[in-house]
Amino acid sequence: MSDRERLIERMKSIMGPKGVVSDHEQLRTYECDGLMNFRVRPTLVVLPETAEHVQRAVQVCHDEGIPFVARGSGTGLSGGALPHEQGVLIVLARMREILEVDIPNQRVVVEPGVINLKVTQEVAPEGYYFAPDPSSQLVCSIGGNVAENSGGAHCLKYGFTTNHVTALEVVLPNGEMVNLGSKSPDPPGYDLVGAFVGSEGTLGIATKITLRIVRQPETVQTLLAAFPSPDDAGGAVSDIIAAGTVPAAAEIMDSLAIEAAEAAVHPGYPDADAILIVELDGPAAEVEHQFDEVVRICEENNSTEIRIAEDDAQRALFWKGRKAAFAAVGRISPDYFVQDGVIPRTALPEVLRKIKQMSDQHGLRVANVFHAGDGNLHPLVLYNGNVEGEAERAEELAGEILVLCVELGGSITGEHGVGEEKKHYMPKMFSEDDLNTMQLLRCAFDPHALSNPEKVFPTPRLCGEVRPGPRRIHPVEKAGLAQVF
Ligand SMILES: Cc1cc2nc3c(=O)[nH]c(=O)nc-3n(C[C@H](O)[C@H](O)[C@H](O)COP(=O)(O)OP(=O)(O)OC[C@H]3O[C@@H](n4cnc5c(N)ncnc54)[C@H](O)[C@@H]3O)c2cc1C
Repeated sequence: MSDRERLIERMKSIMGPKGVVSDHEQLRTYECDGLMNFRVRPTLVVLPETAEHVQRAVQVCHDEGIPFVARGSGTGLSGGALPHEQGVLIVLARMREILEVDIPNQRVVVEPGVINLKVTQEVAPEGYYFAPDPSSQLVCSIGGNVAENSGGAHCLKYGFTTNHVTALEVVLPNGEMVNLGSKSPDPPGYDLVGAFVGSEGTLGIATKITLRIVRQPETVQTLLAAFPSPDDAGGAVSDIIAAGTVPAAAEIMDSLAIEAAEAAVHPGYPDADAILIVELDGPAAEVEHQFDEVVRICEENNSTEIRIAEDDAQRALFWKGRKAAFAAVGRISPDYFVQDGVIPRTALPEVLRKIKQMSDQHGLRVANVFHAGDGNLHPLVLYNGNVEGEAERAEELAGEILVLCVELGGSITGEHGVGEEKKHYMPKMFSEDDLNTMQLLRCAFDPHALSNPEKVFPTPRLCGEVRPGPRRIHPVEKAGLAQVF
């Protein structure tokens, strides 16, 4: 019996034959996440149904020195759930139970495979919702949201996933199970929940997640304003925030993104070079006052048309095009890269001008969608993979945009994570010492680098990364320095 066959038998004994995928053709289903440029077929896929299954599967991997990668719904856009070719992919999609709803304490406890939107659907009748709302919320999992510290249109006011997770049950890479955080806020000791959220599957696997839910606002008002340029729309967002109003959401789309959304979901947007969607929520009296101010600021920034949502149906229509924007680009281009960078909000006009110059230089179109309030850009670089060299040019252009973001004091990712895709850009943003410090934390959780190895960090450091073939002991680990952890 080969090592692989023995591994298959061990995993089947844990989660039954239906919980193991080993057929080479079936494994192809799992060879990439939402970033399809990278593809790797794992040795094996396991589909645990319980936290105990996860723990036992990780214990097997640890005992055998086999890398493993967690996967939720596979919608990640940075190759975070890309399998390891000699590793086990642990898919949490069958762990979809909402374990506890504690309305008086505003907490919901879920298994990691629960779909983001399900949490809100569960608590909506009680007047609550789960605030982080990635555009993929119909399909992405809470486990994936935790690992990526996902954001969404409404994170400007309410914060990212990290602000809405208070406790985690985690299977560590050595197979131990630990509880981090608590139901109540600010427990003593290190903030290990904070460290785990956004760690992209490199510190272990979350098997139970305690979420904070918030009360539905008394009033929501949404407007859609058309502008002659994205600069004007960006100016309006800066002025709104400078005036002391924090909108629940402030989203900009440029003309190419509008064209794509129209082609895909027909939201009936005005014919403009940019549109801005602003949503305000809170007590009715406050929202009404702020809304008048927002309308005035849009007009002062050269808005050519302002539409105010009269009811939920119209509000949903405003959002329909924005929420569908990434996929919609497929209507106007055979292939595209979704880029994700952050800039200081005030640098928006300069960045847009430079993106336009780069796009002309590379002969490729770029559609722009922004979480404008947070300065989070999503340039969508359009290309045709069948034209020789275009994919490479598109990748280069997408990379140049990231470097520009960093040069202006921003970040290489706002919400999609580093994963496989952006690990080589980490040194553009962090010094050697910064990266080593992050790696110290990683090594404390995972000294053998088994949990989602070779992601996030550009090169193996300190305790080393697992490579295909026999595990390589990094010289520093050999010298015993890893013992300090
Ligand atoms: C059309 C579209 C729109 C999107 N819009 C947004 C958006 O608005 N905002 C945003 O932030 N993102 C967005 N995304 C990206 C993506 O949906 C999010 O990153 C999401 O959180 C990924 O969840 P998932 O369940 O698909 O995770 P996966 O893709 O399966 O995994 C993502 C990462 O999480 C790790 N992971 C998964 N589960 C666990 C677990 N239980 N424990 C530890 N690690 C785990 C994986 O190893 C991987 O590193 C979008 C994606 C698409 C395709």
